[in-house]
Amino acid sequence: MATPEQYQVGDITITAIVEAETLGIPPQFFFPGLEAADVARHAWLVPDYADGNGNIGMRVQAFVVRTATRTIIVDPCVGNGKTRSLPFWNGLATDWLTRLADAGIDPAAVDLVVHTHLHEDHLGWDTTLVDGTWQPTFPNARHLYTEAGLAFVRQRSTDADPIYADSVEPIFTAGLADIVTEDVDLGEGLRMEPSPGHTPGHASLWITSAGQTALITGDFMHHPVQFADPEIPEVGDVDVDRARSTRRRMIAAAHDGDALIIGTHFPTKPAGRAVADGDAWRFVAL
Ligand SMILES: [Zn+2]
Ligand SMILES: [Zn+2]
Repeated sequence: MATPEQYQVGDITITAIVEAETLGIPPQFFFPGLEAADVARHAWLVPDYADGNGNIGMRVQAFVVRTATRTIIVDPCVGNGKTRSLPFWNGLATDWLTRLADAGIDPAAVDLVVHTHLHEDHLGWDTTLVDGTWQPTFPNARHLYTEAGLAFVRQRSTDADPIYADSVEPIFTAGLADIVTEDVDLGEGLRMEPSPGHTPGHASLWITSAGQTALITGDFMHHPVQFADPEIPEVGDVDVDRARSTRRRMIAAAHDGDALIIGTHFPTKPAGRAVADGDAWRFVAL
């Protein structure tokens, strides 16, 4: 992961900043009831998205979107030093900020932070621990939230997972927060579209420039196996039926618009296109 992965969409550049990539995960860890053999049946998933035994890879990554005038970060990962009940997200000490710098991005030059939703793996780097207090990592950026997203993160925050206190409240305290609707138009060809089900208020980012289109999924899907079977629920999906219909609708829209789909948790090669396959799709990496 020495060279940051970049995708070009017209005049807009999208860079993946990876926090963690884990391979060889038994699929039922994320997809209850999904057996490795069910994954291995889809040969096109191997080797980029699953191994020959049907165990899967997953990433936590943010995407930096650079337009003619702005630098925008989408879903800044888990962050360092956070108290989290999930052992593999607790007290992380990754070099994500170094990777961001290696990609040529100065945190002070970030204009906008966008969240598809407020799960703890999508907002952690909004703050950094400085002299014992959580401070904004991107001190000159506006940070966008929805009312539904804020209600959700407040309700989920506990002493074991103080997500609101360590990652959201400091942004409001610093005066860097804006509350927007799920369908907000961000200008320069960037537009959020509501994609609910995984969480209330979930939205995904469409990027259009010079006749080309891309879609940053957020968590309406988690892994390319869900192209083959969009019915597969992810363990964190709050409203399973709504997540299923959202998945089909968003994949169909991306397919019909020939959009580059960029999967927020997809491993190895997160960008590609949906190709029709029976009554569902395959994912063909860029
Ligand atoms: Zn999520
Ligand atoms: Zn996530």
